[in-house]
Amino acid sequence: MKVELIALTPDPERIIEIAARTCYQSGDKMVPEKLGELLPKLIAMGHESPFEHATATFRVSGVSRAMTHQFVRHRLLAVSQKSQRYVSEGNFEWVTPPSVPDGDKAEFDRDMEVMRSMYKKWKDKGLKNEDARFVLPNACTTEMVVSANFREWRHVFDVRCHRRAQWEIRDACLAMLVVLNQHAPHVFADQAKEFLAAPK
Ligand SMILES: Cc1cc2nc3c(=O)[nH]c(=O)nc-3n(C[C@H](O)[C@H](O)[C@H](O)COP(=O)(O)OP(=O)(O)OC[C@H]3O[C@@H](n4cnc5c(N)ncnc54)[C@H](O)[C@@H]3O)c2cc1C
Repeated sequence: MKVELIALTPDPERIIEIAARTCYQSGDKMVPEKLGELLPKLIAMGHESPFEHATATFRVSGVSRAMTHQFVRHRLLAVSQKSQRYVSEGNFEWVTPPSVPDGDKAEFDRDMEVMRSMYKKWKDKGLKNEDARFVLPNACTTEMVVSANFREWRHVFDVRCHRRAQWEIRDACLAMLVVLNQHAPHVFADQAKEFLAAPK
């Protein structure tokens, strides 16, 4: 799995604070040395709309379709994912769940290779990518670019960094949380403390 930040609102905490202080007409209280200190208070009181003015975009690759299917359920995320219609999966790679015992990994790989040959067989029989893909596994790797505003990222982290979330989406969201916490600690420090410190 690879998670890369590819775009971020410049000075995100300043933009959010400007938005919030516009509500309260308290721009005169905005001082550089205290920049961002208002933001955890907004979170505590549930004043979340200012967090919609900052956005982050990630490229996520080497993850399974099983994982991205969960991601796309978040309707406020903008997602662009590798197409299985326009791109052949003749040489698809796969994600092996960590729960597969070491001694069974070779068997798992053999099963994947069987599915790869099934895909090729149906392509050779004349099926288009869009129909040959019906025999592909959820383990098939994919790549996506995903964007959201900080309010939505906080929501996604709340549900997907939780220890009860599925391991692969959790790993991806934890990696994103680490990055966003570096760029906007007044927005994400509470979640970093809650989720990054928790035992896996
Ligand atoms: C642990 C876990 C297990 C799950 N298991 C299943 C499962 O078995 N089967 C399954 O189908 N799904 C499952 N899901 C997916 C889940 O039901 C949601 O579809 C997914 O988490 C996206 O939720 P969301 O609407 O909160 O997110 P987003 O789409 O990101 O929306 C964010 C928030 O905006 C608001 N919102 C967005 N759209 C609307 C709307 N149309 N109307 C009103 N408010 C809206 C809501 O407050 C929402 O929480 C699971 C999710 C988790 C975290």
